[in-house]
Amino acid sequence: MIKRTRRSLLLVFSSILALILIILAASFYFMLAGVVNRDEHNRMEKTGKKTADEWVRHTTGKGYGVKEEFDRLRIGVMEWEFLQYDQFAVVFDTAGSMISSSSDDRNPLIDAEIQERLVGRMSGSDFFRLEKTAPEGRSVYALFRISPGDGKGSVIFIGEDISNQIHLLREMKWLIAGLSGVLLLVASGIGYVFAGSAMVPIMRSLKRQQEFTADASHELRTPLSVLQSSVEILEEEQSRLPAVHRTVLHHMKDEIIRMIRLTEQLLTLARSDSGGTPLLRSETFDLRDTLQAVTTRMQTTIAKEKGIDISLDDMLPEEDVSYAGDRDQISQVLYILLDNAVKYSFPNGTVMIQARRNNGDGVELIVADQGCGIPEENLPYLFERFFRVDKARSREWGGTGLGLSIAAQIIRLHGGRIEVKSTVNRGSTFTVRLP
Ligand code: ADP
Repeated sequence: MIKRTRRSLLLVFSSILALILIILAASFYFMLAGVVNRDEHNRMEKTGKKTADEWVRHTTGKGYGVKEEFDRLRIGVMEWEFLQYDQFAVVFDTAGSMISSSSDDRNPLIDAEIQERLVGRMSGSDFFRLEKTAPEGRSVYALFRISPGDGKGSVIFIGEDISNQIHLLREMKWLIAGLSGVLLLVASGIGYVFAGSAMVPIMRSLKRQQEFTADASHELRTPLSVLQSSVEILEEEQSRLPAVHRTVLHHMKDEIIRMIRLTEQLLTLARSDSGGTPLLRSETFDLRDTLQAVTTRMQTTIAKEKGIDISLDDMLPEEDVSYAGDRDQISQVLYILLDNAVKYSFPNGTVMIQARRNNGDGVELIVADQGCGIPEENLPYLFERFFRVDKARSREWGGTGLGLSIAAQIIRLHGGRIEVKSTVNRGSTFTVRLP
């Protein structure tokens, strides 16, 4: 239980931390990407404007004060040297034909395919990206479209190679993810150690409580045995007692038996909680024999009182139902299940018990009754300590609410599991699967 609590504490702590780290890392990354993007847009816009001005100046002469210089430039070609080394520009006329480009002395991007892709972008968003895969690697270009207003309807595309920024952003992404992962691991490790220290006082008090339960149950055994013997001695003389005293004696005996049972069960649980039950003297035995022995024991006691028939059902003679485990503990499980089946059966009913191989390489023990059944909403709590569906009925038959939790514990120690199906007033079927 302590280990489970420590693990759940760690799980909660790590999940919260992971969530915070994911939010922080994602916010940081998106902020960074946002800044890079904004910066890229600003740069592109500035270059676009500059290019548009230059284009208008070179093609219309607007902006030049000196007539002679305009004449000289008009016959010259457009100069692109103001562009950065990783930028380029292309100018298209309204028909989509390229009329000028910086590709001669700049980026060799502007091949026929890219030209075609740019023509397809004559309308729509001003900012967009293009990717180009070449043998030397994948390049990403940011593009900005601008109309220079030269009176001819020309369109200019400004491009910039942003492969480095994209690469940097991708590396940052991995770096942030890696750092968050390492941080999470380190914090979880520290959290595990802290969770362990937090458990120490709880473990101490739990241990004290277990020791107390074990000691108290142990100490109660002797006086209870003395009481039982005393009542038995009185019983021998009961014919000399008045009727009312006989009834009192009878009740006393019932209560003493119940208390003996309770202290024994508490002792079993306290010992197994503190790891005091040595796990499983393993021996191979035939489950049929165990079933038979438990049935015989039950048939002569409470089953007889209630007129219940216990039938050992459907066993195929050739089926091997031998099992390697602790014979006494498995008998105890069967005893608890059968005792319950009889206790919660209607008088003169039938209880069916069965051992069989299951489909895998394990065995199954089935105890089915046609008794009062268990409401569905109670099924999840059935194996909890001191849980009883009907306290009065359980008490009437000497129940303590500990039987099923002991059975579940034993089955868990054997690596098996227990399941229950039940319908109110139709009966219950308990199935134990042992590996
Ligand atoms: P108890 O000593 O009270 O029988 P258990 O732990 O063995 O304690 O069982 C817990 C409760 O589960 C019982 O009080 C009873 O209400 C319910 N229960 C167990 N087995 C059966 C059954 N075969 N039919 C109906 N109710 C059952």
